[in-house]
Amino acid sequence: MIGLISATAAGAAARDRLAAAWPDRTRVYEGSVPDAVRAAFAECERLVCFLATGAVVRLVAPLLRDKASDPGVVCVDEGGRFAVSLVGGHGGGANELARAVAEVLGAEPVVTTATDAAGLPGLDTLGLPVEGEVAAVSRALLDGAAVALRAEVSWPLPPLPVTGEGPYTLRVTDRLVEPGEREAVLRPPTLVVGVGASRGAPADEVLDLIEGALREAGLSAASLAELATVDAKAGEPGIVEAARRLGVPLVTYTAGELARVEVPNPSEAPLAAVGTPSVAEAAALVGGGELLVPKRKSAGRPATATCAVVRRPGRGRLAVVGLGPGARDLLTPRAKDELRRASVLVGLDQYVDQIRDLLRPGTRVLESGLGAEEERARTAVAEARRGQAVALIGSGDAGVYAMASPALAEASDDIDVIGVPGVTAALAAGAILGAPLGHDHVSISLSDLHTPWEVIERRVRAAAEADIVVTFYNPRSRGRDWQLPKALAILAGHRDPATPVGVVRNASRPDESSRLTTLAALDPATVDMMTVVTVGNTATREIAGRMVTPRGYRWQEETR
Ligand code: SAH
Repeated sequence: MIGLISATAAGAAARDRLAAAWPDRTRVYEGSVPDAVRAAFAECERLVCFLATGAVVRLVAPLLRDKASDPGVVCVDEGGRFAVSLVGGHGGGANELARAVAEVLGAEPVVTTATDAAGLPGLDTLGLPVEGEVAAVSRALLDGAAVALRAEVSWPLPPLPVTGEGPYTLRVTDRLVEPGEREAVLRPPTLVVGVGASRGAPADEVLDLIEGALREAGLSAASLAELATVDAKAGEPGIVEAARRLGVPLVTYTAGELARVEVPNPSEAPLAAVGTPSVAEAAALVGGGELLVPKRKSAGRPATATCAVVRRPGRGRLAVVGLGPGARDLLTPRAKDELRRASVLVGLDQYVDQIRDLLRPGTRVLESGLGAEEERARTAVAEARRGQAVALIGSGDAGVYAMASPALAEASDDIDVIGVPGVTAALAAGAILGAPLGHDHVSISLSDLHTPWEVIERRVRAAAEADIVVTFYNPRSRGRDWQLPKALAILAGHRDPATPVGVVRNASRPDESSRLTTLAALDPATVDMMTVVTVGNTATREIAGRMVTPRGYRWQEETR
C-alpha cells in the first residue's frame, strides 16, 4: 500500500489526483501531518508526502531503522513540479515510485542514488537475491573501479562494467558461500527441489528435509527457484506451506509426465500410491538439469516426505523488441526496459543508431547491414543459447516483415523468448491519415525478394475481391517499380477510381510526409521504400481532409 500525506490545499489536490489514478494501491492519511506520517510509515510499504523535503526529513528521521525494511519515501513539492525520491531509493522502491508519481502528475522525477543516475542497475535491482558487500561493489562498478565477475553458474545478467581482475568481486553462484571482503554474491534461481509426501506430512518435517538437503549439499536456499511435485499432491498442506515459507512457487506435473523421467532411485510405493515410480527425483528432473542431491527421506518415524535437488542450466533470454516507427515517444516503456535489460543487442545498424543512447554501458552491440537477416537471427539465438540476455530489435513491430520469425524459426525450447510489440508502420500511418483501418484490413508486402510475384498477386486479388482495406509495405524501390502499379490496377478493377489512397513516408520521423489521393490519381513514382500506401475499401471516404473507413455499413448509409 502507498500512504499519501498532504498539508496544503494544493498538496491535497495533487494527492487526490494520485489517489484517483491508483485507487487500489493508495491510502490517504488525514489529520495532523506528524501523526499521519508516523502511521503511514508503520503501515505502508511506500509513502508519497506532498510536503517540503525538509519537513519530511525531520518527520521520518526518528522513524528510520534500516534500508532493508524501511518504506520508500517520495516527496512532491507544492507546485507539483518534482517527485523526489528521498529515502529507500532501491530497496524501498522510492526511485521507481518517484518515476511513476512523476508520470501521473506530469512532474519531473528526481533520483539521486548513484547507480540510477549513471544508468547502471543497482545490484539490488536485478531481481535476484544479493548478499555481501552490496553497497561497496555497486559503488565500485559505478566509479569504474575494477570489479571481477566470477560466474559459477550461467545466468542472463544485464550489462555490467566488469573486468577480469579486481580488488572487488561480483560472484554469481547458488553455492553456500561466505561473501569475502569487497565481494557481493548474486543468487540466480537455479535450484529446483522435487518433493514427495504422504498424506498429512507436517510442514515442519518437509521444510527441515528441504533445508537440510540444501545445507548439506552446500547450496543456498536463496537460489531456490521452485518446489515441484506430482499433481495429486498439489494441495498437500505440508508441501504447500513449505513452499510458502520458502517464498517459492509450487509447480506440479501429472503422474504420466513424471513416469517418463529417468531417475536413479525409482520405487514401488509412489507407483502404487500416485502412479509414478518417482515423485521427488522425477519432479526435480523433469525440466532437465543435474541431480545434485538424490532422493532422501525426512527425519520423521516413519518418514513422511522425500526430496531431491536439481540444478537447472541457466536459460538464456531472447527479447524480440519492436522499436516503433521512429519517434522516441512511440517506443514503448516495455521496449525501453528490455533494451536496458539486455547485455547483447543484435540489429540492423540504422535501428541500433535509433536507440543507442538508451543502452547501458557495457552492452555488447552486434550490428549488421541490410540484407543480413538470417545472420542476425542466428547470432541472436546463438548468444541466447550461450546464456546471455539478448535483445533483437526491429523497426515498427519486430514480428511484422521483420526479425521475429527468422529468429524463432532458429530457436529451440532451451531459451526464454520475450516478445515486445511495437507500433507497426500501418498503424503509425493510419493515425496520420485519419481512420483508414476502421474496418477489416490487411497488410501486403510488395517485395518479391522472398515471395514469388504470383503469390503476392493472388493475395492482392483476394483483398480486392473481398473489399478489404489494403496497406502495402515495401511498396517500391529502385529495382522494383512495376509491382505497385500492377497491384493498384488489380484493386482498381473492384473499386471506384475515386477511392481514397493514403501515402505516408517516414511516419513519425523528422522528415515525415503524407498525402491523401485517389486510386486514379496516385503517381507511383512518388512512392519509395520509406513509404506505406493504404488503399481504402468501397466505403472509405475523405472527410475534412482525412481518410475514414466506416466501421459498419449502416453508418455508411446514413452519412452518404
Ligand atoms: N517491422 C516493420 C516493417 C518492416 S518492412 C513495421 O512493423 O513497421 C519495411 C517497410 O515498412 C518499409 O519499406 C515501409 O513500407 C514500411 N515502413 C516502416 N517504417 C515506416 C515508417 N516510419 N513510415 C512509413 N513506412 C514505414
